Amino acid sequence: MTDMIYETEGPEETRELGRRLGEEAGAGTVYCLEGDLGVGKTVFTQGFARGLGVQGPVNSPTFTILQQYEDGRLPMYHFDAYRVGDVEEMEEIGYEDCFYGEGVCLIEWPSMIREILPEEAVWVLMEKNLEKGFDYRRITIKNLRHETWTEGRRS
Ligand code: ADP
Ligand code: MG
Repeated sequence: MTDMIYETEGPEETRELGRRLGEEAGAGTVYCLEGDLGVGKTVFTQGFARGLGVQGPVNSPTFTILQQYEDGRLPMYHFDAYRVGDVEEMEEIGYEDCFYGEGVCLIEWPSMIREILPEEAVWVLMEKNLEKGFDYRRITIKNLRHETWTEGRRS
C-alpha cells in the first residue's frame, strides 16, 4: 500500500483526520501512533473516538496504560505505553484480548512495546516541522508489518 500523507495546520484538522479514520475503522485494527511528546497523538485519538461514536472525554492514559471505551460502534482500546517498563505490565492489563479482539486499538509510544506489537498494524507517524509553523504537523499513514517500518527507519 502506498503511504498516505496529510498535513494539518492545527489540532482541529488533526482531530478531523482522526474522526474520518475512526468512521472507517474495521474491527480488529491496531493503530500505532508514533511521534514525539506533544506532537498530537492524543488529539488524533480524540478525533478517532468521535468517529467511532465514543461520547465522553478522551485523555492519554499515561498512568493506567489502558483506557477502554465501550460506547462507540466498536470497542476502543487506547494505550499509552510511555511508562511501560516491562511487557509483563502489558500482560497484566490483558493486552492480548485487545490487540486480537473485535475492537480497535490505538497505541501511543508503540516503540516501548515493540516485541509484542502485532505483525499487522496501521502506522500513523506524526512529525512537526517548525519551519512550517508551530501548529504544522505532517501525518504519514502506512499499513504494514512493523518489522518493515522499523527497518526502514533505521536505514
Ligand atoms: P501527544 O499525545 O502526542 O503527546 P497531545 O495530543 O497531547 O500530544 O498534544 C498535542 C498538542 O499540540 C496539543 O496541545 C495541541 O493543541 C497542539 N497542536 C498544535 N498543532 C497541532 C496539530 N496540527 N495537530 C495536533 N495537535 C496540535
Ligand atoms: Mg498523548
